[in-house]
Amino acid sequence: MRRALAVASTSPDDVPVGAVILGPDGAELASAGNERELTGDPTGHAEILAIRRAAARLGEWRLEGCTLVVTLEPCTMCAGALVLARISTLVFGAWEPKTGAVGSLWDVVRDSRLNHRPEVYGGVLEPECARLMRDFFR
Ligand SMILES: [Zn+2]
Repeated sequence: MRRALAVASTSPDDVPVGAVILGPDGAELASAGNERELTGDPTGHAEILAIRRAAARLGEWRLEGCTLVVTLEPCTMCAGALVLARISTLVFGAWEPKTGAVGSLWDVVRDSRLNHRPEVYGGVLEPECARLMRDFFR
């Protein structure tokens, strides 16, 4: 999570969210910060970019055994993408009551109708992750 916090502010105009993907052996495969403002891409969330980079690095869309660590509770798009990528474990920092799709507004990743459900750990280093967001919006 400290590594995700470190990549959260790579683009100064974007909401500071950082994501890191670890391979099954625990080694870092990819990382990203939000780049929506930077690139003008509405899907340029940190999680999406990190998933794309990890899949490109592995040459494989299935990220089974991988862990996604992100500083903020994922939105519906990112929660859907991490299920589609078969991410095995999701670790997130701050809760996002306005758009969160891993327990706050919806729970996209643990819907029993889906055939893939990652293991989820929320609230990791929450004070640091929440402070990053508060400071940005202040
Ligand atoms: Zn998102």
